[in-house]
Amino acid sequence: MATYTPMIQQYLAVKEQAKDAFLFFRLGDFYELFFDDALLASKELEITLTGRAGGGDEKIPMCGVPYHSAENYIQRLIEKGYKVAICEQLDDPAATKGMVRRDIVRVITPGTVMEGKTLGDKSNNYMVCVSETDGMLALSACDLSTGELYATSVLYSKEWLKDEINIYEPSEIIGDGHLLDLIGAEMVPLGRKVLFTVWDKHKDDLVQSQFGAAAWARLSRERQVNVSKLIGYLSETQKRSLGQLTHIETYEPDHFMILDPFTRRNLELVETVRERSKKGSLLWLLDQTETSMGGRLLRRWIDKPLLTRSAIEARLEAVDKLYNQFILREDIREQLKEIYDLERLVGRIAFGNANARDLIALKLSLSRIPALKELCTTSPSETLQRIADELDECADLCESIDQAIVDEPPVSVRDGNIIKLGYHDYLDQLKEASINGKRWIAELEARERETTGIRSLKIGYNKVFGYYIEVTRSNLSSLPEGRYERKQTLANAERFITPELKEKEALILEAEEKMVDLEYSLFTELRSMLNNEIQRLQKLAEQVAEIDVYQSLAAVSAERGFVKPALSDGYDLVIEQGRHPVVESVMKDGAFISNGTALEKDHAHILLITGPNMAGKSTYMRQVALISIMAQIGCFVPADRAEVPIMDRIFTRIGAADDLIGGQSTFMVEMADIQVMTEKATPRSLIIIDELGRGTSTSEGMAIAQAVIEYVHGTIGCKALVSTHFHELAHLEDSLPSLSNYSMAVQESGDKVNFLRKLIPGAASSSYGIYCARLAGLPEVIIDRANGLLQQLEEVTAQIAGGSDRLQPVRGRTEAAQPEQMEPSEKMDQIERIQKGSDIIQLSMFDESE
Ligand code: ADP
Repeated sequence: MATYTPMIQQYLAVKEQAKDAFLFFRLGDFYELFFDDALLASKELEITLTGRAGGGDEKIPMCGVPYHSAENYIQRLIEKGYKVAICEQLDDPAATKGMVRRDIVRVITPGTVMEGKTLGDKSNNYMVCVSETDGMLALSACDLSTGELYATSVLYSKEWLKDEINIYEPSEIIGDGHLLDLIGAEMVPLGRKVLFTVWDKHKDDLVQSQFGAAAWARLSRERQVNVSKLIGYLSETQKRSLGQLTHIETYEPDHFMILDPFTRRNLELVETVRERSKKGSLLWLLDQTETSMGGRLLRRWIDKPLLTRSAIEARLEAVDKLYNQFILREDIREQLKEIYDLERLVGRIAFGNANARDLIALKLSLSRIPALKELCTTSPSETLQRIADELDECADLCESIDQAIVDEPPVSVRDGNIIKLGYHDYLDQLKEASINGKRWIAELEARERETTGIRSLKIGYNKVFGYYIEVTRSNLSSLPEGRYERKQTLANAERFITPELKEKEALILEAEEKMVDLEYSLFTELRSMLNNEIQRLQKLAEQVAEIDVYQSLAAVSAERGFVKPALSDGYDLVIEQGRHPVVESVMKDGAFISNGTALEKDHAHILLITGPNMAGKSTYMRQVALISIMAQIGCFVPADRAEVPIMDRIFTRIGAADDLIGGQSTFMVEMADIQVMTEKATPRSLIIIDELGRGTSTSEGMAIAQAVIEYVHGTIGCKALVSTHFHELAHLEDSLPSLSNYSMAVQESGDKVNFLRKLIPGAASSSYGIYCARLAGLPEVIIDRANGLLQQLEEVTAQIAGGSDRLQPVRGRTEAAQPEQMEPSEKMDQIERIQKGSDIIQLSMFDESE
């Protein structure tokens, strides 16, 4: 190390503090990266790798980015899941002899991004901290850009950790090494970049000073430890006060409906399974929020449906009143439309990077609050009135900004032109002086023209020479001798100065310099005043978000003809004419076929649903789950009438090939899920199983399916919807009193079959697997052989099930498909329609008589 130049030695010393980050080392107008950082960054950022002599034997690898465009490069590294440490010059190089001091001013990590497009408007960017203390598992989640901080804990449970992490979808996870290993190994959904950092440095005193001793004392020990680690990490990386974190929102996990990651995915609550896009999800359907914080709150509501009846009813009350008041709803939307992202504006104020435009955005937003409050106060909704009562308009803050900041300030806060005239006496004087000076210059120009008789004479300004008098070459002879000092010669003009002009120039420039400095300090004064009021603004942001979510839920409910669900403390779930909200919304009006559901203690609370592929089984089962979830977030539901009990959990096991994780087979995954279900389900849960037992051999699969159903029926006693292609299981209806057979109706008319998508009592007679194989054009020998084998198998399974009389012979059905008489395009068309599930698929009639 001794052989390196002092600058490289300085670099190496700083790099010691940021081993796990790219070190952006400021050298003049560039951030430079050296050694391994340079090798990797030049690849990741596709920038040129060069070398620099640094005293060692060989050149040191180096690459760099201009400081003014660094943000873009930093963002790209962050998105790739790296950390970037920013090392600045701490002294002014012009005023320093020898080497300037340098140090890291901030480490930017995926979970602590404060700017740029990494932050989606309507989504949060969470960083999560996990820790274990005395057998308790604690988790905190923080969005530094919005100032949210949640903390919770439970008795150690791997499943819970998985559920909770999945909800926050963090971009970064820190905490105890063994927990990170666990999460890394099996929990984080594939395809998402998450940065892990083992971290156990506490900052107890910092937490206490940040949130107050009382807030600290209210936290259980494991939560204290956890939050303290999180704050330790944030302070070590951000190296500044985190004023936007004003309070710790603690919650108990069992106060919300529990939805495991598979269920959330399968029900497509916030993104679709295939494209992982918001479009097509429940969130997408329900989101008519006008503000970013409203959009984020809606997502949190969907993530955590409520269990407390009074709280759900308070939400439903607001939605109900707005549902019926179109004008009021539109008026509220009008106001919300003009409100910017208050949470993130406040975040930037606290972080110290808000500019004058941000303050204008804040002012414009605040100017909408009185009208919004009035609308809520006069609304018929008690919930909205309550919010209005508690709502602090922050009019004083709006006023302060209005008095100080001009309406259209520039982006830069260092170049003046941001403070209004009349705000500050001395600033006004300086402005006056500068304006007078400029007026004097204009007058001088007129005078000089007159005395010299040169009409084209003009006075100009540039940064190098200051003010000058410019005369074209042809007019030079008209200039009197002696009075003018030549300063610069151009192609066809000369520039001069006079002592008088220079004197005035000094005054003008001094005034302007003072003006710019003073404007900056007045601006930062205002910003720190606002910084002290952050809690009020955050509270306001929350209330605005809540109002926004109500209007959104009401607007969607009214548009789509949803009804208010009746919540019950009882067991029974009854839905009349229920629909799947998303599938319905993408179909032609009236094309979706509604279906009722009755899951009742004294009748049947397990429905065993059979029916051919594409008949609508899984759509139906999902719709029941979605209606329950919608009710518990406080939204109206797609049905004619719905009476729903409050559910503590929804489990879904819906077999899909893309559920494979870590090389496990579908069947193993299915069994692991079923295991969790048997352990966690209570009588207040809802279980949905699609195609139970399909991942193994027929007889085994059927045996397991039957055993699971018996367990759900006899031991758990909860509501369940089970679809199966084992038609043989229909006999269970005889032995399990709370189980009923249902099927998706198919209509036979002449030699055609229509999928009616109607749920009807009784088991279906057959599925169409071999029919589809035939349509797909498999050779006749294979089809014949399959038919033969099927018959043999069914005879065997019938003996196992002991109910051969229930078996419907299926051989022969496929023979009627006659694919050989179809054109190839016709065949593909049929198959495609079967895959896509076009509204009604017509199948050739098969021969029942065989
Ligand atoms: P299954 O689970 O029985 O194979 P799906 O539930 O996947 O069938 O439904 C197949 C397709 O049928 C869906 O993609 C949808 O387009 C259509 N569908 C399902 N249910 C209905 C319904 N109630 N009304 C109209 N179309 C429906």
